[in-house]
Amino acid sequence: QTPNSSVDSAQDKQGGDSATGGPLLLVNQLERMFQVGSSTLHVLKGIQMSVMPNQLVMLKGRSGSGKTTLLNCLGGLDTPSKGEILFNGLPFSRMSDDERTHVRRRQMGFIFQAFALMPLLSAWENVELSLRMAGTPRSEWKSRVEQCLELVGLEKRMHHRPFELSGGEQQRVAIAKAIAHKPLLLLADEPTAELDTGMSAQIMSVFQNIITTENVSICMTTHDPTILEVADHVYEMVDGKFI
Ligand code: ADP
Repeated sequence: QTPNSSVDSAQDKQGGDSATGGPLLLVNQLERMFQVGSSTLHVLKGIQMSVMPNQLVMLKGRSGSGKTTLLNCLGGLDTPSKGEILFNGLPFSRMSDDERTHVRRRQMGFIFQAFALMPLLSAWENVELSLRMAGTPRSEWKSRVEQCLELVGLEKRMHHRPFELSGGEQQRVAIAKAIAHKPLLLLADEPTAELDTGMSAQIMSVFQNIITTENVSICMTTHDPTILEVADHVYEMVDGKFI
């Protein structure tokens, strides 16, 4: 048995929680504290939330309220101080480090405010790199790269490099890159923060499109009130708690 087969087989056997109508992501009484010198900074204070399959969930709140810290915990990039996160029915705390890494690499996709593209690679090569990292067989790369770039509306920009693309187009490459390995959950930290209103609206319509066509759920942070209306659910965070 490989370190990761228990994660896959547990989900196959159960069909995963999401396949049985349960949440894809369930968060129970999550807390995160940081030790800063001699004092303790209590950043997340008992977070309860869920993301259902094919949902677009937004975490809204002022800068410093704790949104990124929460997103990092949801993506297994940070470890909570208390509480539990269940992904597809499986608690993070009961997974080994290898299993958590496997879930993060194979079943999640990440999108950041600053696009995070490789500057010297074309849109095509950026998406291909993501398939290579995820261990997708080489024979599938060409058709999947094409499909992902078409899904985000960049079929005419496939061979452009990031500096030859607008901010909105760069973010669409980043989305193509994040969905290439067919994750169940996309986590996006302020994906529209660098964009003007028109481009933000385009990104949100790409999100709505991929939720349907790719069967993915999206959990994103934002402080932009103009995009909230497309969310299925909005959690508002104030000082580490939802109100
Ligand atoms: P938001 O994304 O809503 O702007 P963050 O989650 O980035 O908020 O930050 C919330 C608070 O947690 C801030 O006061 C920040 O300084 C603090 N914080 C985040 N990460 C750390 C860390 N690694 N060590 C100490 N404090 C942190």
